[in-house]
Amino acid sequence: MNRQITLAARPSGLPTESDFRLVESDIPSPGPGEVLVRTLYLSIDPYMRGRMNDAKSYAAPVQIGQVMVGGTVSRVEKSNDPGFQPGDLVAANSGWQDYALAKPRELRKLDPMQAPITTALGVLGHIGLTAYFGLIDVCDPKPGETVVVSGAAGAVGSAAGQIAKILGCRVVGIAGSDAKIRYLLNELKFDAAFNYKTTADYRAALAEHCPKGVDVYFDNVGGPVTDAVLFNLNVHARVSICGQISQYNAAKPETGPRLLGLLILCRAKVQGFLVSDYAPRFGEGLRQLSAWFREGRLSYRETIAEGLENAPRAFIGMLEGANLGKQLVKIAM
Ligand code: NAP
Repeated sequence: MNRQITLAARPSGLPTESDFRLVESDIPSPGPGEVLVRTLYLSIDPYMRGRMNDAKSYAAPVQIGQVMVGGTVSRVEKSNDPGFQPGDLVAANSGWQDYALAKPRELRKLDPMQAPITTALGVLGHIGLTAYFGLIDVCDPKPGETVVVSGAAGAVGSAAGQIAKILGCRVVGIAGSDAKIRYLLNELKFDAAFNYKTTADYRAALAEHCPKGVDVYFDNVGGPVTDAVLFNLNVHARVSICGQISQYNAAKPETGPRLLGLLILCRAKVQGFLVSDYAPRFGEGLRQLSAWFREGRLSYRETIAEGLENAPRAFIGMLEGANLGKQLVKIAM
């Protein structure tokens, strides 16, 4: 049987496990030119929260009763395409289920001799590419500049901070636990970091940790953390709006202080981006990320839940900050 996790109800606020349903169906048979893949690892990502809403966005919502969307590392089980053989390991978009059909163009072959296969869902996949283009292309950081990263101990944030270090910047991370702060300082060698959950005055903490002001801000979270960073921007600062996870569970848009006037005085550039915009340059990004990875300059952490049935809990945990680095679910060996 094929086990699938479908959307059972649209959440209001933080999702609960009852918003998901585990169902069983037959394992599908590949048609002409199709490939049957078995999920080994499922990627758990913040964007999935947006897909649970019935809101018009750049991507279609998951409908009630549909399988939750998601990137996977999978193994080819049956293939009606000459380019894929049973046993091949691939990056796919199978969603929250054991088995799925795929078209060959939707699959990327993985070589486990080059890097652990789970990196295809993390630092050597869309996560690393998001950090790479969101930092370098949007912000053009220069050696010696101060770069602040929010959500810094998560998958994208930890990659973005390390890339900024590689580029010779002074890197300051913001994250939500003391263990995460120790990881940033001791393992990733960030220059400074603070726990926003135990800090009363973010603006003062940033002023203390960024004595020369903030030249580049890589924003994963939005909300009050981002408000505080804006007060510390230097003239000609660049801000990359990668994510706004503090707002994803909000039933109504949060009304914050209106700070756009600050951007006039510091002539700052603020730009949102989607990693998919850079699809024509993914090859360039993956080559550079792989080179840094091989040289030991780009490391990663993973938080791995076990079993498809535990994917909803892992997803809710990630939204609450339970993950260090990339959140995955191991589905099969
Ligand atoms: P992640 O950072 O590995 O996991 C999410 C983290 O968000 C949690 O661990 C938690 O860490 C933090 N968080 C949750 N609620 C928060 C709040 N209210 N305030 C501050 N931090 C909060 O996830 P990721 O996959 O790397 O994604 C990071 C961000 O990048 C997300 O906003 C995501 O939407 C965005 N993203 C954008 C693109 C794009 O193309 N633009 C692509 C991929 C991801 P703490 O313990 O530190 O709170």
